[in-house]
Amino acid sequence: MTTRPPTETGSMDPRTDTAKPASTEQEGRFGRTSMSGAKGRHVSVENLDAWYGDQHAVKSFNIEYEPNKVTAMIGPSGSGKSTMVRCINRMHEEIPGARVSGKIAIDGEDLYHASVDVTSVRHAAGMVFQKPNPFPTMSIFDNVAAGPRLTGMKGGGLKERVEKSLRGAALWDEVKDRLNQPGIGLSGGQQQRLCIARALAVEPEVILMDEPCSALDPIATLRIEELIDELKQRYTIVIVTHNMQQAARVADSTAFMLDGELIEVGPTERMFTKPNDDRTEQYVSGKFG
Ligand code: ADP
Ligand code: MG
Repeated sequence: MTTRPPTETGSMDPRTDTAKPASTEQEGRFGRTSMSGAKGRHVSVENLDAWYGDQHAVKSFNIEYEPNKVTAMIGPSGSGKSTMVRCINRMHEEIPGARVSGKIAIDGEDLYHASVDVTSVRHAAGMVFQKPNPFPTMSIFDNVAAGPRLTGMKGGGLKERVEKSLRGAALWDEVKDRLNQPGIGLSGGQQQRLCIARALAVEPEVILMDEPCSALDPIATLRIEELIDELKQRYTIVIVTHNMQQAARVADSTAFMLDGELIEVGPTERMFTKPNDDRTEQYVSGKFG
């Protein structure tokens, strides 16, 4: 285990403290990956259980999320998809009475290890929610700058990071002339891309999206789906969706959850045409859910 408490730059890597220049792939642990050269990380989930009080919401869950692939999580409402995804960036434990056990690792490094700083995990695994949630009092610029500022970034470096993140979220051209206007003045689809830019600004390794398009119109949805396709060149992506056409369009792999359990996971096309389990077949053919 090479993790250390974070330094003031938010790094968990002891090597940052030395005079060593520009980071390499290997050094990009928990939030320090350089966006230009970044590659997605392997996320492994082993025997994950999650509870809300007595309610067992995720049960003995095992899955591997492959680097530079999109994995869709599908299943009826209440099957534990959101809970599962919130465990990956350690948000589940914030809920009073909530508990989690098991192991989640990014490239072998345990996110729940005692030495791991929770904030750096949340940066490493950025989250985008169902309803776009820009910080309501902040400008477009400040929404994206908020995360990097926490790590002490300012001036030209900060401006550069904001531009890069907005470009990465396919929003730059639409907002570059009004960076000081409020984030909530944007359309729903633009707000969602702003939230994606905000997640990119802290240089994540994994992007978690919980029904990111369900509040958007079809055009804005398509825009986000195209963006997901671009983002997977650099990140590992997990997307919860109730829209099976969306899973079919964007996901390399699809995982079907039912009642807290993973029923099966496989290449998206096979999951929709020849699933192994009858329950998957019933769900994807619209017989329940
Ligand atoms: P999904 O995203 O598949 O709809 P969730 O992960 O939201 O499923 O929910 C899984 C189970 O956990 C459901 O039974 C739900 O009622 C319960 N649950 C979700 N959030 C909470 C919470 N904050 N407190 C208590 N129970 C919750
Ligand atoms: Mg959900």
